[in-house]
Amino acid sequence: MQTIVYLTLLYFLFGSLIGSFLSVCAYRIPMGKYEPIHEGVKELNRTLSIISPARSFCPRCEKTLAWWHTIPLVSWLILRGRCGHCDATIPFRYFFIELMTGLLCALTFLRFGPSITGLVAFGFICLCIIIAFIDLDYMIIPDVITYPATCAGLAIGVINRYAPVPFLRHPFVSSPLESFYGLLMGPGLLLAVWWLYFKIRKREGLGLGDVKFLAVVGATFGMESAWFTIFFGSILGSVIAIVALIARRGSFASYFPFGPYLVVAAVAYIFDLHLLIGHLLAPTTPITWWIATQV
Ligand SMILES: [Zn+2]
Repeated sequence: MQTIVYLTLLYFLFGSLIGSFLSVCAYRIPMGKYEPIHEGVKELNRTLSIISPARSFCPRCEKTLAWWHTIPLVSWLILRGRCGHCDATIPFRYFFIELMTGLLCALTFLRFGPSITGLVAFGFICLCIIIAFIDLDYMIIPDVITYPATCAGLAIGVINRYAPVPFLRHPFVSSPLESFYGLLMGPGLLLAVWWLYFKIRKREGLGLGDVKFLAVVGATFGMESAWFTIFFGSILGSVIAIVALIARRGSFASYFPFGPYLVVAAVAYIFDLHLLIGHLLAPTTPITWWIATQV
């Protein structure tokens, strides 16, 4: 028991370290290539890649950060969300991404154990986090992420089917056919949602990036995952939009991208939340009974 607690903590620390790298990816991948949708993203007059420059820098004073400025979670708290050189605010999201990645890494360990399946699932979650934050800043899900990831999903199907022992367990697809159905189902269903939204709201609510992300989910986890991601993502999006409208921030809801909701739903699927929701909505549960008595 004690070993599990220590290991979970270790996975959390490892995850938060990866999280600080994910922040860098979400910042550098789209920088200079797309137009940000809000003013929080400062455009820089220099070319960036994930590995160059190797050290992180402050976007305002552009000075390279010292090693102790970049310790996950701790540095942000010690520097109280400010740059160690100038007084620029370091957005809370850096801390949030590190914390969330750490928690999800620990959860992956608890769900899959120390396995290849867990490792690849965590890799998928990392991609999801990068996608969500790029979408929040630019309202774009870059092809440079979705195309290779879709191919990886199809490759998993092939490897799982033809390897002497299955390579990756559930929730990953077990055959190329399953992967292929998911690939068709995900984007297909989402295009139906796009059409419905267009009919009701008279404008486009989804981008092509969302459709491509669904292709990644479908190819990697199969048809059921694609269905659940759209279903749960739409519910999440609607709830937040309604809350935002009630809070009289309608403009907020109108430009908020859909990608982050899809991402949350896809990650929820990895942790079997669809089984829990299916269980809660089974005909015999108190919730279903309560809903039935209300209509
Ligand atoms: Zn600075």
